[in-house]
Amino acid sequence: MTIKTRFAPSPTGHLHVGNIRTALHNWMFAKKQGGEFLLRLDDTDKERSKEEYVTAIRADLAWLGIHPDSEERQSARFDRYEERFEELKAAGRVYPAYETAQELDLKRKVQLGRGKPPTYDRAALDLTDAEITAFEDEGRKAHWRFKLDHDTPIEWTDLIRGDQHFEPGLLSDPVIRREDGSWLYMLPSTIDDMDMGITHVVRGEDHVANTAVQIQMFQAFGADTPEFAHEALLVGTEGKLSKRLGSLGVGGFRERNIEPQSIVALLARIGTSDPVEPIADVMTLVQTFDFSRFGRAPARFDDEELAQLNQKIVHLLDYEDVQDRLPDGMSAAAWDVVRPNLHDMGEIDAWWQVVTGPVTAPELSAEDQEFLNQARATLEGLSWSETIWKDWTGALKESTGRKGRPLFMPLRQALTGLDHGPDMGALLPLIGRESALARLQNISS
Ligand code: GLU
Repeated sequence: MTIKTRFAPSPTGHLHVGNIRTALHNWMFAKKQGGEFLLRLDDTDKERSKEEYVTAIRADLAWLGIHPDSEERQSARFDRYEERFEELKAAGRVYPAYETAQELDLKRKVQLGRGKPPTYDRAALDLTDAEITAFEDEGRKAHWRFKLDHDTPIEWTDLIRGDQHFEPGLLSDPVIRREDGSWLYMLPSTIDDMDMGITHVVRGEDHVANTAVQIQMFQAFGADTPEFAHEALLVGTEGKLSKRLGSLGVGGFRERNIEPQSIVALLARIGTSDPVEPIADVMTLVQTFDFSRFGRAPARFDDEELAQLNQKIVHLLDYEDVQDRLPDGMSAAAWDVVRPNLHDMGEIDAWWQVVTGPVTAPELSAEDQEFLNQARATLEGLSWSETIWKDWTGALKESTGRKGRPLFMPLRQALTGLDHGPDMGALLPLIGRESALARLQNISS
């Protein structure tokens, strides 16, 4: 059996960090099992689904390195849903109902007022043909409900939540189709999961109650049910899925110069018993992916943790990984020198400018300026090589008696305009003789 998972976003907006996590886990699980990963666009809602979001979803997944093996769109499958809906109708597993939204609301209020759960009372099942005709004559259109089988308890062993049990009699028969013929999420998703050979449904625990209903739909069609894994939801440091997290997506990460590898490394592990680690190679994360490691407590998404992880990931990136994002002319050697100083890739231009100049040195004392005069003269007299920094500072130590910070800091400041930064021994050869002398000339004159 080929393992097959799917990620099923509705293209009614951009992916946020919660959906990205679901997509990633589906993809990782399929990868680990040598299976397939499907991108299914749940675009039955013609009004709200937008092509620009379809394009953005594909682009966001690609940026993250998640490449679906196939793609399906629900909007291309309406005939199929109709066909299978007719089967359920013939089997008496769907029924028309005519209550208005206000009527349903009133029923719920009455039930709640009596201290009862607001489960749909199935009044529509008792409608006579004459009553139905009367409604239709009035211009009322039916919406359709799926008739749950109250005699068959719903059970499954969730890969994360363990044994699950639902009494169908305590659930409302779900509305699956609206008055205008449009589909709600529940039935098309089940039909797709069957037709597309989905073996594992991985999604947020907000879908647990849907799963209970969908299991009865699979059974109504005589199909095997897939395995289910319902993940605890993602929350922010403030303890809930905030508005901010709900709108935080790839666009926001890119603005903050977060690497895709950092998002992947974080989202692969938060909410699991495995530690979040700076692992830039996704296949290492894939190999350790395991639903049995997932906890029941919400996974906490912390911006600060992401920023720190991102810094560590940047330090692991090779020249080849970043080459096309480096400033023009920046070599592999320069990358290696600058890399340990980066918090994120947004700082690369500033460091490259330190190499290429111009730089503005801070105000220096008269003694330091005098020292730099001498340093320039010494440098002019030395033959330039890869060990120039060592040779130069060694000579200056001898001639001036300076050592430690008073020796190194004015040189660093004059040459880089900063009092921190990459190892000067590696940086000076990149700056080059002419530039170095010019910078020393600027500050000491
Ligand atoms: N379109 C549904 C959603 O985004 C899919 C849920 C599922 O995975 O079945 O919530």
